[in-house]
Amino acid sequence: MAVQAAESTTSTVSLGPAAALSCRECGTRFPLGPIFACQECFGPLEVAYDLPSGDPEGLKKQIEAGPNNIWRYAPLLPVPADVADKPNLNPGFTKLVKADRLAAELGVTGGLYVKDDSGNPTHSFKDRVVAIAVEAARAFGFTTLSCSSTGNLAGAVGAAARRAGFRSCVFIPHDLEAGKVVMAAVYGGDLVGIEGNYDDVNRFCSELIGDPLGEGWGFVNVNLRPYYGEGSKTLAYEICEQLGWELPDQLVIPIASGSQLTKIDKGLKELIALGLVEDKPYKIFGAQAEGCSPVSTAFKAGHDVVRPQKPNTIAKSLAIGNPADGPYVLDIARRTGGAVEDVNDEQVVDAIKLLARTEGIFAETAGGVTVGVTKKLIENGQIDPAKSLVVLNTGDGLKTLDAVAPTTGPTATIRPSLDAFREAGLDK
Ligand SMILES: *Cc1c(COP(=O)(O)O)cnc(C)c1O
Ligand SMILES: [Zn+2]
Repeated sequence: MAVQAAESTTSTVSLGPAAALSCRECGTRFPLGPIFACQECFGPLEVAYDLPSGDPEGLKKQIEAGPNNIWRYAPLLPVPADVADKPNLNPGFTKLVKADRLAAELGVTGGLYVKDDSGNPTHSFKDRVVAIAVEAARAFGFTTLSCSSTGNLAGAVGAAARRAGFRSCVFIPHDLEAGKVVMAAVYGGDLVGIEGNYDDVNRFCSELIGDPLGEGWGFVNVNLRPYYGEGSKTLAYEICEQLGWELPDQLVIPIASGSQLTKIDKGLKELIALGLVEDKPYKIFGAQAEGCSPVSTAFKAGHDVVRPQKPNTIAKSLAIGNPADGPYVLDIARRTGGAVEDVNDEQVVDAIKLLARTEGIFAETAGGVTVGVTKKLIENGQIDPAKSLVVLNTGDGLKTLDAVAPTTGPTATIRPSLDAFREAGLDK
């Protein structure tokens, strides 16, 4: 294997500014290809770039003149220069909502913003990562798109495959919410429920990749994972651009595998290095559900190792008991002075309702986790309410209706008469 790695580091595939894959552990470089683990040390691979340098104002202007989706950042992504002309769902440039009513409720005075990714084509942040993986799959000549999913990814892959002209076959745990199952199936690709939890689904997909059965298959979050992950950088780019090319002081980000959180940090660091934002310290906070909290448990115990858990929470999109990027999340939270915290299912439901009641944003359970953790971190003094704060809502509440349905309904059900309405006491 080592001999093979030393053979060549020149990529034959061209993906814009992407120069190579590089190992996060030992730094060994590999040509761009559908590989995800270092052949020297088995560490995870990530995309390394030759980024445009020297003219930040020119780059800003180029970005601002681009399309209102993630392709405005094509010069910073592993995609071909003409990506905007290819069939893709073109996600991104979602709203950054100034959440003054929520801020008042939580006692935040430094500016509170909700980055609302429920506005993406399949109503979760996953459209960003899939859009990049689709372009990598095209470049590598795959014909089938696949994934192991906690729910949202399956829908995003199903839709993107249709648009981009791939066959799709996606894998989910058998017990997901109806909203997620329908979203994954409606686009007409194959959907397979696996009898087990996400970690079982993921293990199954790793086996499938190594088998002739999986030949020609691009698993967006397995063999295309280095490219997939880069899609989350666009959240960092958008947040800063929408703040007027400024870094926020604090961000709260949900954690499933931890990919999104680590790549948002990567994106912020790139903006600083490119001179697109002024360098200043920022803190990154991670959010988990108590019923699946391997990373927050390790953080609070001061451990570097993340011990796997068996998930049991209503926040199914975050229910990864053995998160691949867990140790890197711990690093980032500690290095930036942030934290990782968790809330229980009741607090998740309360937080979904709090966000809906104050800002008119209906979040899925993952958004409830993030808002709930934000509240907890403000109360325990880890988030500074006098500094700016961006909270991510990564998915749409319509996909997880069951979480709130038991405690949400009509105020009254009455006969169609004014007397009945008066009796119901709602005429104030
Ligand atoms: C997948 C997902 C996340 C986070 O995923 P990572 O694996 O940590 O990148 C967050 N919110 C929602 C709604 C998701 O579907
Ligand atoms: Zn390595």
